[in-house]
Amino acid sequence: MPFFSFRSSVKSTPTLLEPLSIAPPHELLKQYWGFAEFRHGQQEVIAAVLRGQDVLAVMPTGAGKSLCYQLPALTMPGITVIVSPLIALMKDQVGALKARGIPAEFVNSTLHPNEISAIMDAVVSGDVRILYIAPERFGSKDFVRAFEKLPVALFAIDEAHCVSHWGHDFRPDYLTLREMVKKLPRRPTVVGCTATATPEVKDDIVAQLGLKQPAVFVRGFDRPNLHYGVEQGMTSYDRDAELLHLVKNTPGSGIVYSGTRDRAEELAELFCEAGIEALPYHAGLDPEVRREVQDAFMADQARVIVATVAFGMGIDKPEVRFVIHGAMPGSLEAYYQEAGRAGRDGKPAQCILLHCWADKNLQEYFIRKGLQDMLEKGQSKKDAEAFAALRTARLTRMTRYVTTRQCRRRKILEYFGDPDAARIVNCRSCDGCLRKKP
Ligand code: ADP
Ligand code: MG
Repeated sequence: MPFFSFRSSVKSTPTLLEPLSIAPPHELLKQYWGFAEFRHGQQEVIAAVLRGQDVLAVMPTGAGKSLCYQLPALTMPGITVIVSPLIALMKDQVGALKARGIPAEFVNSTLHPNEISAIMDAVVSGDVRILYIAPERFGSKDFVRAFEKLPVALFAIDEAHCVSHWGHDFRPDYLTLREMVKKLPRRPTVVGCTATATPEVKDDIVAQLGLKQPAVFVRGFDRPNLHYGVEQGMTSYDRDAELLHLVKNTPGSGIVYSGTRDRAEELAELFCEAGIEALPYHAGLDPEVRREVQDAFMADQARVIVATVAFGMGIDKPEVRFVIHGAMPGSLEAYYQEAGRAGRDGKPAQCILLHCWADKNLQEYFIRKGLQDMLEKGQSKKDAEAFAALRTARLTRMTRYVTTRQCRRRKILEYFGDPDAARIVNCRSCDGCLRKKP
């Protein structure tokens, strides 16, 4: 039995809809959102969308990507569809749009088929202009039958890295999106948004989503309040002493990334013995214990967390004053994500990496082990080797960041392809620039 009932007035080729507004972007920003100014990058992305150009927008978390498709939706002569895997957030996002007077709805697995049917009717009749869709909906034939009749003018794909095998959150449902766009009566403008900026992921998103001559924007990766530094080629003994020295002498809350679980335990003990309130955090701990450690950090009961990569997702503590790496991560992307947890309050914060030559060996071991795991899981030799080669290339770039004597801020922005890199001559806030003569 089909899920959807449609009004008899629905035609197979839908006519375009009148835009909700024809006001210029700046006015819409004030009128609907109450914001005075666009953030860095938003205006360019919106201008491209309004020109009808496909876009890939790569901006860090919190930069304001939602506005880049929500605002153009108001002036589109049709419906805006937003695909997002984050079902838990959809209700809030739709609620916020409705509170601003924008007719929006969502369809995902939390709704009853009758509710979905009613929403699709409202979309068809033009009463709903922004529709959030969870990607797995496109697995339902009935849903697709309803979808392919819609006058979609803008098709926005949030968390677009989910379409790439090279990303950290591949979702097979995303691979169908390209076909879904083709099914529509008129090809909409397609916008992909993500915070994942590695070059190969960007290229893969463009290919897998079938973006047509897209404008690619990478914006907002610079964090001017973060100071970067690396101490290179230490022995492991020196490194422990230096970690202790830094943690002792840098005031405020901080995170020390340790590389392995055992090291997290050892270092937390070392710090505690020196009178520093430190707690270890890693995936080997009980979920209950992990929550307690997180809470203690958030409530300033523990000044320092010594953690593996398991720590950080969803933790938003604004006043983290330092993130010190006691081991080199496998990629600059991983490094920046972890280091970027410092200084969210905009005040100065330290991002220091203490490096041993053995770190590279450990990462190479992880790559070999990853390759072996992929083969054991039945993946093809070609895929497994391609992935290992990619990881090796990422490690090489990470090593180059460690060994450079030039501006580290510039190196990071160049790696992500952020054009702000070109503007940096002397950032005065990394060890590379501070070594230079003024
Ligand atoms: P992202 O998806 O890039 O992580 P969001 O779109 O969720 O970021 O936006 C993050 C926050 O920034 C939201 O609270 C949003 O309301 C706010 N925001 C977005 N654009 C602006 C702006 N131009 N001025 C002020 N706040 C903004
Ligand atoms: Mg977002």
